[in-house]
Order: sequence, then C-alpha cells, then structure tokens
Amino acid sequence: MTVSSTVSAPDWRDQDEQQPLVQIRGVTKKYGDVTAVDNVDLDIHKGELFCLLGGSGCGKSTLLRMLAGFEDLNAGSITIDGIDMANVPAYERPTNMMFQSYALFPHMTVEKNVAFGLEQDRVPKSEITERVNDILKLVELEDFNKRKPQQLSGGQRQRVALARALVKRPKLLLLDEPLAALDKKLRKQTQFELANIQDKVGVTFIVVTHDQEEAMTLSSRMAVMDAGRFQQIGTPTEIYEFPESRFVADFIGTANIFEGRVTEDGADHVRVETAFCDVFIDHGHSVQVGSKIWVALRPEKIRLEKSDEAANGANQSAAVIDDVGYLGETSIYKVKLPNGDIFDVTRPNQSRPTHAAEHLTWDDRVNISWDPSSAMLLHS
Ligand code: ADP
Ligand code: MG
Repeated sequence: MTVSSTVSAPDWRDQDEQQPLVQIRGVTKKYGDVTAVDNVDLDIHKGELFCLLGGSGCGKSTLLRMLAGFEDLNAGSITIDGIDMANVPAYERPTNMMFQSYALFPHMTVEKNVAFGLEQDRVPKSEITERVNDILKLVELEDFNKRKPQQLSGGQRQRVALARALVKRPKLLLLDEPLAALDKKLRKQTQFELANIQDKVGVTFIVVTHDQEEAMTLSSRMAVMDAGRFQQIGTPTEIYEFPESRFVADFIGTANIFEGRVTEDGADHVRVETAFCDVFIDHGHSVQVGSKIWVALRPEKIRLEKSDEAANGANQSAAVIDDVGYLGETSIYKVKLPNGDIFDVTRPNQSRPTHAAEHLTWDDRVNISWDPSSAMLLHS
C-alpha cells in the first residue's frame, strides 16, 4: 500500500472502546533535584494529533524523549500499541522523532535525505523509490527532489524533515516544536498543512509546542502542562471555553478573572455574588453555596454599550473606558468597573472605528453585559 492511497484513519473519537495507542501511567522523570515530569497519566488514540502545550522548561520535551526511548523513566510505564516499552530500545520502537533543527544532511539531495532511513533498513531499491516519490508528492516537494537543503526555503526544509520522518511509516510520530524555525506568517500556513498531511497519512502525531495558537489550530486534543504536570487535557474548544483553573484560563487566550461567592446552586444554573454584579451561569457545575470561587470571562464574550444610565442586574455592570488599544482587526477596551477592577473587552472592527455608529473613546460611560452561558467557573 502506498502512502498516497492510504485513507484517513478512523476518527479517534469513535475509538473510545478500543485500546488507546499510547498509554502513559504515572510517568516521572527527575534530573537531580528537578522533577521534569511529575507523575503524569495520559491516553492517546490512533489518528490523533495531540499537542503537549506549556511554557519553556515545563517538561514537554522530556516526556517526548521518554516516548521515543531516548530517556529512562524514574517511575511509571509507557505502553505503545499494547506493548510495554520498558525494555524496548529507541530504534525498535514504532516511533519516529522529528527534531526542531530538522537535522537534514546538507550534502545530500532532498530525495537522498528522505531515502536515507529506508536504505539503512535495507528496504529494496524499487520500494524505496516508490515510497520516496509518494511521500514527496504528499508534502508537495516532488519538483524539488534533486535540490540540496540549502537551496530550499525554511518551510520546504521543514517539509523534507516531515517527509523523512513519515517515509518510515511510524505508528507514532513525535514532533518537538516542528514549526519553531519558521517566521510567523509561514508558521500559520504550515500549521494547516501539517494538520492536512497528518489527516491524509493517518499517523498519530504528538506535537510539542509552547505556542498556544499553534496547539489550538493543530490539535485534536491537547494537554496543558506546567511544572511537569498536566493542568488540563481536552479538545481546543473544551480548554478554551471550559478551563478548570486560573492557570489554564490565563495561559490559553486572555481572561478577566475575579472572585465571587456562590449564592445559588440549581440543577441548571449557578449564581455567584461578586463585587460589581451577580453572575448567573446557565450550565450546571457542582459547587457549594457559600463557597468562594473564581469566575473568568473572555474579552470577546463581553458586550459594550455607551450609556449614561448605569445597568444593574445579573451579568451586567456600569463601567468607564479607561484605555483603548487599536489592533487593526479588533480593538481592545480596558474598562473600569465600579469596584476598580479593570476588564479587557475586545470588539471586531467591522466598520472603521472613526466611522462606526458608536465610536467609543476614553472616559466614555458604558454598560457591559454578557450571556448566561459565557462566564466560566474555576475551581483553583
Ligand atoms: P520543555 O521542553 O517544556 O521546555 P524540558 O523537558 O526540556 O522542557 O525540561 C524540563 C526541565 O528539566 C527543565 O527544568 C530542564 O532544565 C530540565 N532538564 C531537561 N533535560 C535535562 C538534562 N538532560 N539534565 C538536567 N536537567 C534537564
Ligand atoms: Mg522543549
């Protein structure tokens, strides 16, 4: 079967009953006093594009290297396709790693770079030619096969590295900051390409990145990591819309976070008393009446309306525009609430701000409001 004729892998969401491709259980890695990875558990299913997202030094690469077999574990186990990897050396694992530096051979053509691993494995020559051609077609480099790496752009080199990793048909491809060497615009375009290629080959990808936008664009699911631990695991939508902690709400996107006290806990709603208004949330959470809790609101979920009449009621408050930031596609308004809190509110600039029916500027009195589905309750 050639790569170009492979069909997309079954949707990973349909595989809940099946055994996960990767099972990580209680995995810990210490370097002296530093616990780089701290007792993590994770299942990854066939066909997923899973992102490990976190700031520098949080343990992402260490976890990836343990999956590849380049590092020993201090505790726990890693199972890939039902086989415990404890005594399986890196070169016998069904994994392949794509490094940030790409590590291409400068003196070899694109074709030779991609063929190298197969030649090492003594794959028959005719099969090598076919597999290399197929994979170069897939990454849209078939016309560049005779070039050397220095005759390629950054994005093209990245695709050669990807082709070289995929041509060996790993069950699991491990990618450490695969787009970090590209400039911002190219990185955005390449994110979509990478996701498309992954979908076509159906190989399970685990991608390490510190870039939250990249993780949001690429992943089927992601784990947000901090200090060696997973703070939350979920789809990009779950993580963005339903963060469980202040850390995640703040790390992914922007959030206005404030304190409150639970006053009602109904089957289908929660009411929280805060310093400026009641927050009514129309989805169930398990909270205790009387308990202190953190509430978060995304800047784009808040509406702004110019008004001299102060709003009162749930999910609304009077405010004053404290600062305005014009970013082109959107504007950010810093609004000051009656208790002194400053909220970020964003609005798309559908009309030029100077031509907008309602032009908002410094010291304007406004009312802010949001839907009952918009506020998020955080437990830590
Ligand atoms: P990330 O990839 O998330 O930036 P790493 O996994 O590379 O983070 O590193 C996690 C932590 O482990 C950091 O504190 C780092 O300094 C430490 N670390 C990583 N590799 C080694 C090593 N070989 N020796 C000692 N400390 C290391
Ligand atoms: Mg790293």
